[in-house]
Amino acid sequence: MSDVLIRVAGLRKNFGSVQVLDGVEFSIAKGEVFTLLGPSGCGKSTTLRIIAGLEAADEGEIKLGSKTLLSTAQRVNLQPEDRHMGMVFQSYAIWPHMTVAENVAYPLKLRGVSRAEIDRRVASALRLVDLEQQADRPAPKLSGGQQQRVALARALVYEPEVLLLDEPLSNLDVKLREQMRFELKLLQERLGLTLIYVTHDQSEALSLSNRVALMNHGRIEQLSAPDELYERPKTEFVRDFLGKTIVLPGRIESRDGTGATVSLANAPGHISCRGHNDSAHYPPGANVNVAIRPERIRLSTLSDGNGAALEGLVETILYQGERSECAVRVGSELITVYGAPEARHLRNHKVWLDFTPEAVTLWPR
Ligand code: ADP
Ligand code: MG
Repeated sequence: MSDVLIRVAGLRKNFGSVQVLDGVEFSIAKGEVFTLLGPSGCGKSTTLRIIAGLEAADEGEIKLGSKTLLSTAQRVNLQPEDRHMGMVFQSYAIWPHMTVAENVAYPLKLRGVSRAEIDRRVASALRLVDLEQQADRPAPKLSGGQQQRVALARALVYEPEVLLLDEPLSNLDVKLREQMRFELKLLQERLGLTLIYVTHDQSEALSLSNRVALMNHGRIEQLSAPDELYERPKTEFVRDFLGKTIVLPGRIESRDGTGATVSLANAPGHISCRGHNDSAHYPPGANVNVAIRPERIRLSTLSDGNGAALEGLVETILYQGERSECAVRVGSELITVYGAPEARHLRNHKVWLDFTPEAVTLWPR
């Protein structure tokens, strides 16, 4: 990777007899938004806290540029304040007895910065997060979103080389969370900030990040750009953690140079599979699962005429405004697909499910 700013290697951590990190490593480029994503308890916060210097590692090395922040082998472990990193938590952790400006000034006071310089930098940080008007208000009087912006300004005020964010938007309600996502992205792009972002929220991870490391049980399961992670998952864990997947059991009928034809176990019909992960390792006769994302399926009330689409009956419909989710009975499978809003009238109608072979992936069964 060009322009590596942070290098994390071989992080291991046990709490008592529980292994929490099992060899975590990655590199991050300057200006990148790098996200640690994964289910609760997989080790995201522990990784971030070790990077911040708030938690000790059993083993591992962390470098920022050419500077070693942590090396268990060399017995180096810099204090948090010597690491030039800002941190924002889920609980905003603002000081309730201070005004907005005093909160933001606090890290600079700790570092002994002059009064004039503090005033200048606090004003500039508050301008960044659009809170200049609130500077003299007591911090607890602000809304949740504003309080989180105070926390952001406080982390940005001493111009850290890296900003660490641990579920910074999780305490906000849905509307505000989506708005803050945009604000954060705009700020990051405008200032060229390097972010390490922790979240369990897949859509937050996919929408904000340049690259995402999906963690599972203290290991990185896959590290990719968001579209790669979503479109080309390497494991079932990655496939199922992100988005929805329809999984149908079947058997390989035949193979050709570019893919396989699968007969379904619980429904009539054959499916042509040419998804990204079929490297011709399932021979004819092998039991497999075929997988397809619901948004890759086109729902139609007309037959395609060539018999490639699956025929089914709409059993029930969940109307969602922007679309209608249709549960379609195909053989003994119930397949949920996304129809246009107008599909809300299709209950008990015969329909065809159509998709391209490239959208179908093969998995072991
Ligand atoms: P995540 O942020 O991905 O939800 P954490 O990194 O916070 O996960 O925690 C990973 C695992 O380590 C969890 O099983 C958690 O219970 C455990 N853990 C975290 N901190 C401590 C601690 N201070 N003492 C004991 N166990 C801990
Ligand atoms: Mg956490």
